[in-house]
Amino acid sequence: MLVYNTKTRTKEEFIPQRSGEVRAYICGPTVYDYCHIGHARTYINFDVLRRYLEATGYDFIHVQNFTDVDDKITKRAAERGMTPIQLSDEFIEEYFRDMDALNVKRASRYTRASDYIGKIVEITERLMAKGIAYRSGGTVYFDVEGAGGFGELVSGIEGAVTDPIMSLGKRGPFDFVLWREGGAAEQSWDSRIGRGRPGWHTECVAMAMDSLGEVLDIHWGGMDLIYPHHECSALVARAITGKPFARYWMHNNFVTLSGEKMSKSAGNTAYIRDVLEGFRAEVLRTYLLSKGYRERIDYSEAGMERMEKTYDLMVEGAAEARKGGGGAGVSSCIKEYADAFFGALDDDLETGQALAVVERLSWEITGGAPDKDFAGASRIYDAVEGVLGIRLRR
Ligand code: AMP
Ligand code: ZN
Repeated sequence: MLVYNTKTRTKEEFIPQRSGEVRAYICGPTVYDYCHIGHARTYINFDVLRRYLEATGYDFIHVQNFTDVDDKITKRAAERGMTPIQLSDEFIEEYFRDMDALNVKRASRYTRASDYIGKIVEITERLMAKGIAYRSGGTVYFDVEGAGGFGELVSGIEGAVTDPIMSLGKRGPFDFVLWREGGAAEQSWDSRIGRGRPGWHTECVAMAMDSLGEVLDIHWGGMDLIYPHHECSALVARAITGKPFARYWMHNNFVTLSGEKMSKSAGNTAYIRDVLEGFRAEVLRTYLLSKGYRERIDYSEAGMERMEKTYDLMVEGAAEARKGGGGAGVSSCIKEYADAFFGALDDDLETGQALAVVERLSWEITGGAPDKDFAGASRIYDAVEGVLGIRLRR
């Protein structure tokens, strides 16, 4: 399979470290609100990667975190008279409700930042001992220049454009927090490096390495995480192990609303549950897979309405294909369709092209091409359900 690696900016043949096994990590949500359809897209795309690799014979071991230590959580919890943990618990449950509705398979393991404080402190101490982290008051920073500078995913210059923040006590403008002094009572911990709370980037390193080892096969996230989160995580991991954090870095593009990235903090969101009031979950899943993961999707109800028709056509196609039962062999026309369908997925998960193939087949099999032989078509619909995760039911 070819996958686009953000690290090399090219499509590369995917080769995991151990044969037959893939170890992957995907950054989970910050749990202070419901998920919107941008989140849905991220987890659905990754779910298709997982299903595709499983279908081609790999064991897929994957870990996902929940960021449950965050100022936005503390703030929202206080507003609602809850503890941060209660608030996170609630939104983790809601996360699963949304993802179950969208047929996203569960990870091998879910981790929470608040369970990893000890490990994060350990990492911070190791970096201090190596001279790559330094204290400024009660806060510990990572010394970006001391570690060799950016370059895993972005160049230093790109970083400079996106991070103009310079605060007192930092040695270099791009140095980032490993351990932040103080914080609300319920979101800070006593430790050997003082009372405080962890920085976001160390969190994922601690959780990924603990469960999956030093080098991941695949690290996935939305494109907004490339810098600073993934660049900084990669730098931390390399400073500890001397090895790359991940062999393949994969990033999906955004769901936008009127051209703007949908985001919880900006408030321009279409929540999954609200969209599912008006549309079936299968239609939303099809819609979010109707373009390859590296393209943008600008959400619109009109687009969803068109997708309902496409989905219904695929359901009809599946029913027609399954009518005769199996055993009739595979016609040359279906061989071509299957090659196009699986070929698209094999080429960096081109789900949009794969769905276009199924749409065309569905049109033909339901009457568009009365003279063709569609024997064996059911295997393509089985893959729509099993690999794309789109259930085809009336
Ligand atoms: P967050 O809770 O904002 O950290 O997001 C969790 C995951 O969803 C990250 O991988 C983000 O990149 C991804 N994500 C957030 N907003 C969008 C969006 N509008 N489109 C696609 N992915 C998104
Ligand atoms: Zn992360």
